[in-house]
Amino acid sequence: MWLIKEAKSKLRQVFPFPNVLNEEQRETLQMLVDPCSKFFEEVNDPAKNDAEEKVEEKSLKGLWELGAFALQVPQDLGGLGLTNTQYARLVEIVGAHDLGVGITLGAHQSIGFKGILLFGTPEQKAKYLPRVSSGEFAAFCLTEPSSGSDAGSIKSRAVLSSDGKHYILNGSKIWISNGGLAEIMTVFAQTPVADPKTGKTVDKVSAFIVERAFGGVTNGPPEKKMGIKCSNTAEVYYDNVKIPVENLLGGEGNGFKVAMNILNNGRFGMAAALSGTMRACIKKAVEFATQRKQFGQRIDSFGAIQEKIARMAMLHYVTESMAYMISGIQYAGAHLKELQNAFKNPTANLGLIFEEASKRVVRKVGLSSPPGMDHLVHKDLINSANLVAKSVDSFGQAVEMVLIKYGKSIVNEQFILNRLANATFDIYSSTVALSRASQSLKGNSSSASHERLLAEAWTLEATERVAINLKSIASGKNLDNFSKMSTISKNVCGAEGTVQSNPIKL
Ligand SMILES: Cc1cc2nc3c(=O)[nH]c(=O)nc-3n(C[C@H](O)[C@H](O)[C@H](O)COP(=O)(O)OP(=O)(O)OC[C@H]3O[C@@H](n4cnc5c(N)ncnc54)[C@H](O)[C@@H]3O)c2cc1C
Repeated sequence: MWLIKEAKSKLRQVFPFPNVLNEEQRETLQMLVDPCSKFFEEVNDPAKNDAEEKVEEKSLKGLWELGAFALQVPQDLGGLGLTNTQYARLVEIVGAHDLGVGITLGAHQSIGFKGILLFGTPEQKAKYLPRVSSGEFAAFCLTEPSSGSDAGSIKSRAVLSSDGKHYILNGSKIWISNGGLAEIMTVFAQTPVADPKTGKTVDKVSAFIVERAFGGVTNGPPEKKMGIKCSNTAEVYYDNVKIPVENLLGGEGNGFKVAMNILNNGRFGMAAALSGTMRACIKKAVEFATQRKQFGQRIDSFGAIQEKIARMAMLHYVTESMAYMISGIQYAGAHLKELQNAFKNPTANLGLIFEEASKRVVRKVGLSSPPGMDHLVHKDLINSANLVAKSVDSFGQAVEMVLIKYGKSIVNEQFILNRLANATFDIYSSTVALSRASQSLKGNSSSASHERLLAEAWTLEATERVAINLKSIASGKNLDNFSKMSTISKNVCGAEGTVQSNPIKL
């Protein structure tokens, strides 16, 4: 049974929890963690940044000096040359203090110039990476008014000049982080490309390195936002911008692949930054809960408050564990790429998994035994591991059932896909939590018994959610309810709001 075999091999890849830094990398990281924390505690003023809706000049200057804008640029090109794990640890600190600054840093390096790091020629790297490491902002320019999730439908267009030396770019982008600051941009546009098979010319997305200095690049005012206010988000316009042909990034017609690789490559940073935010929120919540007294008792003695704190702690534990598990992956090498890919975007991946699995599932067969984790986890966590193993087993059965029922058209059944995606998340997050807690128990870490509680409590609840999600896609009653919800949504959209009037009759 293909899915079960896959699950077995993936489970093994999650154990043991990665501990990927060597002594030297650990020392380097320590040397950066202290000044980074000090900077955010003493120099950066998040409230002021938020009120003024821009990052203070002294903060930006300090961040450039710290090397915070070039964490993963190779050292010989002006950066700090950090690994994903080192990067994750530092952005966690940023996320704990000022997410708006986090967006400014992330838009610059996680997506803004990431394409040059991943796909740049040696010449492009040598020309641009020192510049984006030493004061010139970068931005990633994909989204357009009519093109968001459907990134392949962008309308910006770049055509080769008659002398073949330039592409001439026209179009506009919206919601570009650092759009008002960036000197160097990774811009995506349609280009006419000859199809080698048919000889026909078709439009395909290509990626370009565009400098504001090329001329014809302007931007709108900063957007007003509800949060992360100090990060700059702006429209960017391109009017007959002359891009030298050597600034094509990743080859003509390969822009969609370039964009998706950049976005996927940067995702772990978001998880790491937000786990830092969660850690800081827990600290603040606990400060309040342990000081506030009502009815003569500290409110943290009430079960209702304890449940909230415990949930925050569990959610943080799984978020942080997954962020570092995924950032472990760069280091462990290519054989884990598949696992990395599988969990970047569960809904999209389920589609791919189904497609692959549908080629193999030709008849309904009984499942082999569930993938065992009992030999991988610490002995104290075997019961929890067995729960996950049962969930994997049920997941395999559910996938098989929907494949047989819907075939390839399963990709259009979003009520079902959502539930499978949620089940995937619960199974994966439990597995990662068990892996990390096992590591702590095996290493006699001082927090091991607490981590065991976190992993056990999370796994039990996740298992229950998996069962509910999987049951709902198999039950006729629920399928009927999905169809009811689809009709409710259509009715509400048709009525341009709630369908029924207020119950008070006037
Ligand atoms: C603060 C901020 C900063 C940003 N920074 C950048 C940046 O630096 N560079 C850049 O290029 N872009 C940037 N963006 C744009 C961002 O990438 C887009 O918002 C995103 O791609 C989604 O596009 P959209 O908002 O047009 O939503 P849409 O694609 O219109 O989607 C609207 C809703 O429909 C759902 N949806 C869409 N298609 C499907 C489907 N097939 N099935 C089910 N649900 C679907 C979506 O999940 C979403 O809930 C930024 C946006 C914000 C808010």
